[in-house]
Amino acid sequence: MPIILQEYINIHSHSICKKNTTGIINLFAHQFSKELMIEGQYYSIGLHPLHINGKTFSTFEKTISDNINNPQIIALGEAGLDRRYSTDIQLQMTVLEKHSLISERNEMPVILHCVRSYNDLISVRNSANARMPWILHAYYGNIQTTAQLLKHNIYFSFGKNLIHPTDKLIEVINLIPLDRVFFENDEDDLEIETAYDNYSRITGTDISLLKNIIRNNFKECFGIQNVED
Ligand SMILES: [Zn+2]
Repeated sequence: MPIILQEYINIHSHSICKKNTTGIINLFAHQFSKELMIEGQYYSIGLHPLHINGKTFSTFEKTISDNINNPQIIALGEAGLDRRYSTDIQLQMTVLEKHSLISERNEMPVILHCVRSYNDLISVRNSANARMPWILHAYYGNIQTTAQLLKHNIYFSFGKNLIHPTDKLIEVINLIPLDRVFFENDEDDLEIETAYDNYSRITGTDISLLKNIIRNNFKECFGIQNVED
């Protein structure tokens, strides 16, 4: 099935995307059912670090093996690491490593949630010998972290934080090359167009050029040749 590329890309959302947008809707693996999937939309499935326990992990493994070949599922995640959660960080890292193995085996990018754990993330990426793209959603890293992450095949996605960008965010955005950028609305009440417009204003990038670049990033990141525009 060819991927249909619309005008806008929404790389991470928890709700259905509009007709002018190619989006990836997140479905939590432990709550997954095929009935939740709607024609014309794309999905990611994964085990969010907030939900990790023995039961969700076995459901995650079963959901993945039953559904990984579904052509509407084009990414893993959201998965990741969050040091604010009570779940042991080593266990979170093990689950992330599992996502990475599935990602490499199936040549699928991973969408990641990462809070106060960027060093742990890089350490998992190295130990898992990951080559596939990882997309950091709702990216809030600082300059030093960003410089580290740019050495890997990692993309950075921005959404709500573009509404009132801090000086730190503007500095980070200006460090990240355009070919590593995506936008998202996550769980927020945000039009994807607003994220594009704000980023365009912050960086002085022409909006139609920006739309083309993000579409190309999507093709590159997802290894898509077969595209219907
Ligand atoms: Zn999310």
